[in-house]
Amino acid sequence: MAEHVKVVIIGGGIVGCSVLYGLAKRGWTDTLLLERLELTSGSTWHAAGNITHFGHYTEITRLYVDSLRIYMEAEAESGQSAGFHDAGSLRLATSQAELEAYRSIEGIYNDLGVPYRVINPDEVATLHPLLNIDGLFGAAHTPADGHVDSSGATHAMAKSARARGAGIRRHCPVRKVRRHNDNQWAVDTDDGVIHAEHVIMAASFWTRELAAQINLDLPLYALEHHEVITDDIPELEALDFEVPTVRDPYAPANTRQEHNSLLCGVYEADPVFWATDGIPPEFGQELLVPNMGRLEEHLLKVIERIPAFGSAGIKTVNNGPICYTPDGCPLVGPVTGHDGLWLAAGFPVGIGTGGGSGDFLADWMVNGNPPYDLPIVYPFRFNGTLTKDECLRAIKNIYARGYVMPMMK
Ligand SMILES: Cc1cc2nc3c(=O)[nH]c(=O)nc-3n(C[C@H](O)[C@H](O)[C@H](O)COP(=O)(O)OP(=O)(O)OC[C@H]3O[C@@H](n4cnc5c(N)ncnc54)[C@H](O)[C@@H]3O)c2cc1C
Repeated sequence: MAEHVKVVIIGGGIVGCSVLYGLAKRGWTDTLLLERLELTSGSTWHAAGNITHFGHYTEITRLYVDSLRIYMEAEAESGQSAGFHDAGSLRLATSQAELEAYRSIEGIYNDLGVPYRVINPDEVATLHPLLNIDGLFGAAHTPADGHVDSSGATHAMAKSARARGAGIRRHCPVRKVRRHNDNQWAVDTDDGVIHAEHVIMAASFWTRELAAQINLDLPLYALEHHEVITDDIPELEALDFEVPTVRDPYAPANTRQEHNSLLCGVYEADPVFWATDGIPPEFGQELLVPNMGRLEEHLLKVIERIPAFGSAGIKTVNNGPICYTPDGCPLVGPVTGHDGLWLAAGFPVGIGTGGGSGDFLADWMVNGNPPYDLPIVYPFRFNGTLTKDECLRAIKNIYARGYVMPMMK
């Protein structure tokens, strides 16, 4: 006999767990999250955990704001720490036009009640004494953000959802999703079939293959993404506060304090894709082989900006797969023509936006309408019109733009 639940969620990363938690808070607990391995074993476990309220598209600022709020709420509810450090962030302006662009969005933060201020180079230097401000025009300062422990935040939501009655099954890969009858989907696993009224695919880049089984061509591909962690830096040890995260469009890279070292995530000019012909079935949760040569031109720019970065040795280099769509925004919402099938996949900044996105989707499912209009994430914006080559080209461009604002050509 097939098992039956109202909702199956496929994927136990930060996004899947956030949807599960969002549904549970709204009273939908006849739910089951299926995870291939352990929770967080996709991209979530190796993410740097950076959360900023300054996203790349102003339309999704609210997703960032809600994400941090939801992680803190789940932490309080579950007792599981999300490991939040409120060090704040600086988004550097490398031209007057960039500074003006930052000023132009101040109103959005006022409306959302999130602290946001465009500051001058001297103020930047005070907030981040290791930063070389030569040539800087200023920065946008978002003091309420910082970084979480990505696994901690995920487990906090999972634990809270479970306590409210939601189900989680680990080591249970979904083999196939198919239509069972007019009202139900069938989800095939090694442990049997599960029937559900709703299925949410929250399996990041694996979603592409799951969806292909029902002839959906989703523009989801994985890129290699590096982060570099230095040895301890005496200048940081000497400070009695944590320096804010720096997002620098010049490198482009983000650099934050990790204990007494610096952790730097790099956006390569010529990024490399991973497994575009299909995720290897034997892939578990391992990291990819790092390539320091590709990072060099970017790290030299980071050193120009933060000279202490250059004098420290490198402790660790992580290279992990990261999921992208052609416009850099996730796919969140229903799948047209497939009643009861939903997507929550394609998150390049899933720690920053996963909490809010899961909650947004849960609200939509329970109430029948999205809580507010957010077409920039709706899956049907793509409609399968792009060829694979067009997708890959667009993803490369969007990734390499790094921190250049969309409004700046
Ligand atoms: C080096 C690096 C640093 C990063 N730093 C940051 C950062 O600082 N801030 C930020 O916001 N983002 C960061 N990211 C991106 C972030 O990691 C992702 O956006 C986020 O983890 C995506 O979450 P997810 O839940 O969508 O996917 P995942 O965490 O990949 O979860 C998908 C889950 O689905 C499961 N799954 C797959 N197929 C199946 C199946 N058939 N059946 C059952 N389960 C299945 C997988 O095992 C996996 O656990 C970073 C990424 C990298 C690579």
